[in-house]
Amino acid sequence: MAYKFKNWAGNVTGTAENYFQPSGETEIIQIVKNAVAKDKKIKLVGAAHSWSALALPSHYLINLDYYSKILKIDKEKKQVTVQAGIRLKNLNVILRDNGLSLANLGSVSEQSIAGATATGTHGTGIKFGNISTQIIGMKLILADGSVLTISENENAELLPAVRINLGVLGIVSELTIQCVDVFNLRDESYALPFEETLEKIPELIQTTDHLKLWWFPHAPLVGVYRYFRTQEELKPRSSFQKFMDDSFLVNVFFAFMLRLGDWFPKSVPPINKLINKIHFKKVSRIEKTWEVFNVPMPPIHFETEYAIPVEHASEALKKMKEMIERKKLHINFVVEVRFVKADDTWLSPAYKQNACYIGAYQYGNRYWKEYMTGFEELMFSYSGRPHWPKEFTPDAEKISKSFPEFEKFRELKNKLDPKGVFNNALTQRLFG
Ligand SMILES: Cc1cc2nc3c(=O)[nH]c(=O)nc-3n(C[C@H](O)[C@H](O)[C@H](O)COP(=O)(O)OP(=O)(O)OC[C@H]3O[C@@H](n4cnc5c(N)ncnc54)[C@H](O)[C@@H]3O)c2cc1C
Repeated sequence: MAYKFKNWAGNVTGTAENYFQPSGETEIIQIVKNAVAKDKKIKLVGAAHSWSALALPSHYLINLDYYSKILKIDKEKKQVTVQAGIRLKNLNVILRDNGLSLANLGSVSEQSIAGATATGTHGTGIKFGNISTQIIGMKLILADGSVLTISENENAELLPAVRINLGVLGIVSELTIQCVDVFNLRDESYALPFEETLEKIPELIQTTDHLKLWWFPHAPLVGVYRYFRTQEELKPRSSFQKFMDDSFLVNVFFAFMLRLGDWFPKSVPPINKLINKIHFKKVSRIEKTWEVFNVPMPPIHFETEYAIPVEHASEALKKMKEMIERKKLHINFVVEVRFVKADDTWLSPAYKQNACYIGAYQYGNRYWKEYMTGFEELMFSYSGRPHWPKEFTPDAEKISKSFPEFEKFRELKNKLDPKGVFNNALTQRLFG
């Protein structure tokens, strides 16, 4: 039956000829064989959270929400094997109940584990890799219906290739994740002036387990979010504070301010200054990981994000401020700055370099294209690599130069899926 596809941000829409929600491996294999026999293309979708068109279907669309069981928890080795459709928010709770945790999380936990890892979803913390680095085993259903098992003992050389796979190698049906002992997070956040923050970045990165910076352009302060891993008892916010932070401030106050700024762009600088005053307060609390790593679902907006070598972080932010001022852009959303440990995953923006990820976001499309162009130019001047699930515009040639193992990945993709069964327009543009 035809299915209307729309991603979370609503910037990617299309129609699939058929939509499937299988609950067993044999069923998934049957769908693949059926698609290939009819010359149909297949796409997988998790929560459809990606801004880039990675999950846009051409013919068949498969969602694994009903293929989302925990298959094995090895408490001694701190490893968990799951069916690929499980959402991070469900996995978080089950792991905690078993004394375990994912090592790091991004801003939300709505994503499926397969979707989050296929795109290299990351949190922050220079001693911690993106979520895909935690994968130590994978089962892939290939275009010919066969199953490829990859683990530390079997086809181990493929792990760096498949951890970030953009959904083009096959259907990820199972994942084994290396977890860590359960921990809580102590949140000791405050605000600093922009210039002072830039000076302190190198020190803050080293002295904070998970450092995140939020800067609203046109406003003087930077929110310095400092999270520390701890075994101390929980000291959570009051329910009133939680309601104010997670519901009122985001869904009512911020949502209204965004609309106001979009209608009257000249009001954006004073609004951002007001947000500084209201939102950037000194915090001290100890909470479960997802209560601190995650933020409430934000109002729908545009996003692009690039990773640059960490040593350029301060200079790049200074140049970003200059670019926004020079182009007279009224930026109503936060610039988000996060830090990720180097890894060896072929398509990782943090491949062999400790990375500073800078996210440029905006509500409404009035300044978006110009902002993105200026931002991407700036990021490429620092050898920036695009973060796959966010919007990016360069052609395949330019992107391939940013990722040293891009050609090796392309070769593997062509070997595992020679007919491009798992391609769509975007991945065809990238890999042919
Ligand atoms: C509000 C919000 C906050 C976010 N915060 C962060 C953040 O903090 N850090 C960050 O890095 N990103 C962040 N993202 C981006 C998000 O993590 C990625 O877009 C992620 O890929 C979404 O997971 P998903 O399950 O929605 O995958 P989808 O967007 O549905 O799919 C992503 C890709 O994975 C493929 N895929 C999905 N399942 C499978 C499977 N079983 N086998 C093979 N391929 C598969 C799809 O085909 C597609 O190519 C955020 C997104 C939103 C909307």
